[in-house]
Amino acid sequence: MSIKQRLAKLNPRQQEAVRYIDGPCLVLAGAGSGKTSVITTKIAYLIQECGMSARRIAAVTFTNKAAREMKERVGTMLKGKEGHGLTVSTFHTLGLNVIRGELKALGYKPGFSLFDSEDAKALLRDLMNKDAQVDADQINQVQHQISAWKNDLILPGQALSHAADENEQYAARVYEAYVRHLKAYNAVDFDDLILLPVVLLRDNPDVLARWRRKIHYMLVDEYQDTNVSQYLLVKLLMEERKTFTVVGDDDQSIYAWRGARPENLVTLGEDFPRLNVIKLEQNYRSTGTILRAANTLIANNPHVYEKTLWSEMGQGAAIRVVVNSHEEAESERVASEILTRRIKERAEWRDFAVLYRGNFQARLLELKLQHYQIPYKLSGGTSFFSRNEIKDAMAYLRLLINPADDNAFLRIVNVPRREIGPGTLEKLANYATERGASLFAACHELGLEQQLPARAVERLGRFTHFIDGVRRRMDGGDAIAAIRSMLHEMDYEAWLYQNASAPTIAEKRMGNVWILIDQLEKSMRTDPEDISPEESTASEETETDTVEAAISRLVLRDILEQQAEEDDTDKVQLLTMHASKGLEFPHVYLMGLEEELLPHRNAIEAGTVEEERRLAYVGITRARRTLTLTLARQRKAFGELMDCAPSRFLDELPQEDLEWEGQPDREDPEKKQARGKDAIAGLRSLLG
Ligand code: ATP
Ligand code: MG
Repeated sequence: MSIKQRLAKLNPRQQEAVRYIDGPCLVLAGAGSGKTSVITTKIAYLIQECGMSARRIAAVTFTNKAAREMKERVGTMLKGKEGHGLTVSTFHTLGLNVIRGELKALGYKPGFSLFDSEDAKALLRDLMNKDAQVDADQINQVQHQISAWKNDLILPGQALSHAADENEQYAARVYEAYVRHLKAYNAVDFDDLILLPVVLLRDNPDVLARWRRKIHYMLVDEYQDTNVSQYLLVKLLMEERKTFTVVGDDDQSIYAWRGARPENLVTLGEDFPRLNVIKLEQNYRSTGTILRAANTLIANNPHVYEKTLWSEMGQGAAIRVVVNSHEEAESERVASEILTRRIKERAEWRDFAVLYRGNFQARLLELKLQHYQIPYKLSGGTSFFSRNEIKDAMAYLRLLINPADDNAFLRIVNVPRREIGPGTLEKLANYATERGASLFAACHELGLEQQLPARAVERLGRFTHFIDGVRRRMDGGDAIAAIRSMLHEMDYEAWLYQNASAPTIAEKRMGNVWILIDQLEKSMRTDPEDISPEESTASEETETDTVEAAISRLVLRDILEQQAEEDDTDKVQLLTMHASKGLEFPHVYLMGLEEELLPHRNAIEAGTVEEERRLAYVGITRARRTLTLTLARQRKAFGELMDCAPSRFLDELPQEDLEWEGQPDREDPEKKQARGKDAIAGLRSLLG
């Protein structure tokens, strides 16, 4: 299909949004109105109709899943090499690429490490334990606070003046030390992927000019979820040319808890007074009934921009509300229904999605799906990357590209076993701290012999020598081959066999490690998101640079989506409402429509029910043909069966469109208690 034919398929407002390329453009519209379609068509339009080089275009969104989907949609529109050098990625990958291209200006060495949340926690624990013994809660709080500051572009030097109370003052002091240590480890954390580029571009006119020459057109999906730093990144890059398109829906802002600023929609109009605001009103996704439910629900929130969505898809089926006696029955119901409905609706497994508020809700459902042998895919749950063998392999990779990565060092110095005990490591750590060196570097220092028995020094030396050797072979030629032979030489497989309860498990684990290395190799070959600022640097990139880049991309992917293979086989999709943003499915189940679950108890207490309502709105608007809402009268929480009240959001839906199956709880307490016992017994038998 030519781009002209593609354009002709869009409605006049969408066409206007695609064709408008000379100035800033905001598409503000409700769910399913074709915002993402505007972005993907516009990328093709810029390349095929305006003759813009794909290298000059950067499209960003929030989740890896959404980025992948967008990439696929664009891929079908472009021919041959048209898409070469095009950036379609998450905000964080874009930031990572800026950092990679500007290491020197940032004062980082090549092969920097990307700390995931666990690594960052470990560092915070070390820093905070210096003052007094701290617990996990305190660490989480400080971590959250530092993240909030970073998202708001508040640097360590400014944090103290923003601190509202004693706790925040303390966090501000930890923040300062934390940033200093990260830098010493040649490491960045997740939030730095946006913060560092923003500060760099803001303070360095040369660097800024270089990136402005590189990116001529930007497109941002899910704009309502940008935080202060992300908005500034867009603004800095686009301030001069003013050529960008952002699309968003204030009713789908669901990341305020992570620093998102829906008011960025308003700021955009102030910063770019000639902003062309285009509204879309036709929904192409859902039936009239589903759309009415979404509109009626969200009308309970105050609105900046009024939107009215309509659909030509017909009224469709009523929305079913299925009440279950307890959570196990709820899962049983969903699983068995999918089994029969797949045949009745002539659907595929992948046409069904089950959405829920929290990952824990998926556990019972998984058991039920397994029971019926229904294939499913869980997004964001226990992931490939959180497997121990993968964490080990990743730690080796990280240490290879950045010997100063102490967390990686500690993870694998004794994996497989090298007889290096905790006492040795503690002394080594003290010695390293004194010298301001990394653990790896400290192993090489002569003075170590005074601190440790000769045997321990020798064992440490053997380990670092081994790593150095692999590193040299990587630099000298085939990096992937060097990594593969490293795994063989240290006989990681034997270690897995020693530690697994069954040989098949060890086999599977080793297989996972090879999958990881294959992924790495593949990623080196394609380097899909490479957008170094100047073409010349890209061609000068050495082999090791590419390995380093590929490894940091792997680490980023680990953090972002915690999901290994791109799995597009036919499976029922299980995901949180947060992760479902931007996606659509023919048949959607929304589970757990109960007070304290949706809206979540924390939100009720914090007075942020509006964000929960938007979350429910996101969930409802994922459905194309049918929507089923489920709830339980009782649910286990804190080891006890608790009574659950139906969600207030159910009352806010148009009652005439709802078809109830079962009634919410209005029985006397005694009967309830008896049933509660049944439920416990049921649960026990289920869990074996
Ligand atoms: P969300 O807010 O959920 O991200 P969106 O506004 O990005 O939704 P899209 O995902 O772009 O909406 O589009 C929703 C569905 O409508 C998709 O299946 C898309 O292919 C289809 N669609 C979009 N525009 C049109 C059109 N003009 N004609 C027919 N179908 C369309
Ligand atoms: Mg979209």
